[in-house]
Amino acid sequence: MFATPFLDLPHLTQAGGAIHLPGSKSISNRVLLLSALCQGQTLVHDLLDSDDTRVMLVALKQLGCGVEHLHEAAHPAAAKDIGAVASPGSSVRITGLGLADGRVQKPAAAIEFFIGNAGTAMRPLTAALAVMGGAFTLQGVARMHERPIGDLVDALRMLGCHVDYLGQDGYPPLQIGSPQLKLDAPIQVRGDVSSQFLTALLMALPLAAEKDILIEVMGELISKPYIEITLNLLARFGIQIERQGWERFVISAGSRYISPGEIHVEADASSASYFIALGALAGTEKPVRIQGVGAASIQGDIRFVQAAQQMGAVIESGPNWLEIQRGVWPLKSIDLDCNHIPDAAMTLAVMALYADGPSTLHNIASWRVKETDRIAAMAQECRKLGATVEEGPDWLRVHPLAQGQWQQASIHTYDDHRVAMCFSLAAFNPDHLPVRIEDPQCVAKTFPDYFEALFSLSRTDTACIPVICIDGPTASGKGSLASQVAARLGYHYLDSGALYRVTAYAALQAGLALEPDNEMAIAALAAKLPVRFSGEQVLLGSQDVSDAIRSEEGGMNASKVSTLPAVRTALLALQHSFQRLPGLLADGRDMGTVIFPQAPLKVFLTASADKRALRRYKQLISKGFSAKLDTLRADLEARDARDRSRSVAPLTPAQDAMQLDNSHLSIEQSVAQVLDWWQRRQGFSTLN
Ligand code: C5P
Repeated sequence: MFATPFLDLPHLTQAGGAIHLPGSKSISNRVLLLSALCQGQTLVHDLLDSDDTRVMLVALKQLGCGVEHLHEAAHPAAAKDIGAVASPGSSVRITGLGLADGRVQKPAAAIEFFIGNAGTAMRPLTAALAVMGGAFTLQGVARMHERPIGDLVDALRMLGCHVDYLGQDGYPPLQIGSPQLKLDAPIQVRGDVSSQFLTALLMALPLAAEKDILIEVMGELISKPYIEITLNLLARFGIQIERQGWERFVISAGSRYISPGEIHVEADASSASYFIALGALAGTEKPVRIQGVGAASIQGDIRFVQAAQQMGAVIESGPNWLEIQRGVWPLKSIDLDCNHIPDAAMTLAVMALYADGPSTLHNIASWRVKETDRIAAMAQECRKLGATVEEGPDWLRVHPLAQGQWQQASIHTYDDHRVAMCFSLAAFNPDHLPVRIEDPQCVAKTFPDYFEALFSLSRTDTACIPVICIDGPTASGKGSLASQVAARLGYHYLDSGALYRVTAYAALQAGLALEPDNEMAIAALAAKLPVRFSGEQVLLGSQDVSDAIRSEEGGMNASKVSTLPAVRTALLALQHSFQRLPGLLADGRDMGTVIFPQAPLKVFLTASADKRALRRYKQLISKGFSAKLDTLRADLEARDARDRSRSVAPLTPAQDAMQLDNSHLSIEQSVAQVLDWWQRRQGFSTLN
């Protein structure tokens, strides 16, 4: 997750590999409740781990359901490249409350449920509990008590359910008793406030289907695709609902829930559109494989697949997976009514930049009233990239960009997650230009790890992955500066000194004195160093060596092994492996001179010996080490002398390094200076 005001995507060339997208929230909680109402066990895969689903699981346990969490092996491709990638979700085995006669086991005692702020749990649970009957109270956080539920309660009361308000009329908390069901008259529910009320009734009423039950929707039903999801899931659980238009729904007598045995929660189909486009744009030898949503999807946006195929993508699919490869290139232009895929269609606008002619997206008036005016936003940002764009009240026409026509742009994202995700695809432009995404964390609304996921699948020439080098003498503050700049830019961070420290530590542990005689043996150790960085922690194998290597002695030892040429060579590949998307901050002594000589920004950081000794002193004391200022200063100067005078990679500024003396600067000032230099090199601010 990037806590940065902007994220610069280097030019990207290829994409391939598998990604497991996170499960859809609305499907997760529906599946949990339906599994609870069945007889026997249902194995639910890829459940989204979120506040809403956790609340639902707790409530189901309270009701007496069996809830067993199973540990699945992480999805190999997702886990391999980047730990944080959209987690494949977990599997849960639910043992339902259903009885052999189709009824459900009612709890004997009264139950108090705490629903937090989980709307997708509150509404369906209320309906199910009210129809089931018992002695229940349902309450949540203060905000939940401000969220209306009156329309649902009215409908339930009409049915003969016993529901009372414990606070304000029309709002939770609620008390629920046992019903005296009246099934003869139609049950009326409003459809124009929230479709969740209808969903709640549709899922609960099969519990009472001794006769046919008719639900009538009052007012224009909103969010119909969500009702389709409900109907589809009910069908998978054995309940066929007869839909008469969008006004009347009949649950036939004798309906009963039947567990499908096993069910996969689908990934969000709108999120899948970016990865479908990724495959269409950049999937060459190795396809992009999306795990978690596929041909059998019940989400409306899955029809984006056909649109992408129309543009030339080659797509294979299974029930819960898609595999996408580039087919026709350039993509074929498209002229499409997008009313059925309003969210995913935004992705088509960016794909259109890579097409063989102008593409027109029709019937997208709803874009104007989403998170932002999406027609205006897409037009404006495509224009920044150099494209000609025409727009009307409910349409958008995007002309493609040929090689040589692309412009380097800083994409404004309007606090709209989809704008941010769409425009990341502009990084595949043929002009090798980077793309800046402003406010990248806005993707958190639906996909917090989106950029990590994108990077895990994308490739580029190493030369395109920017490296900022920060070299300088001991205790000049390189580590703090580099790690803070890395955090600000969303880049990776390499503390190369730690590699020499760990090498020295490992050598001593292996009984090797840090002498030139042992050069080859120490180098052999360095070449296979099982070192891992995890936040502030440095792990050698499974051993946490963070404190051990960061002592003064650890630094002196590092300085000794660092004079051995074979050791330096042995650590080369490891250091180069840190140059990963989207960029790297590397700190050390020879980052700019030897390891990353092509780096676009090199900083040589210095401070007076007095200042550095004082900083090191404070640092050690704060960590609980004992230290003496005089000794520290002497050590530090000895170390600098050795680092400067050694024959290989001596400490010296690269010719093109920017010198920064931070003796009188705060860390914030140094960070600001480096970011300013970086901004000037990137040239985004001046172009837009
Ligand atoms: O930066 P740090 O104090 O952790 O580095 C420990 C020692 O490792 C340095 O004094 C230096 O001798 C060596 N080193 C090096 N090249 C680097 C980083 C550190 O020689 N790139």
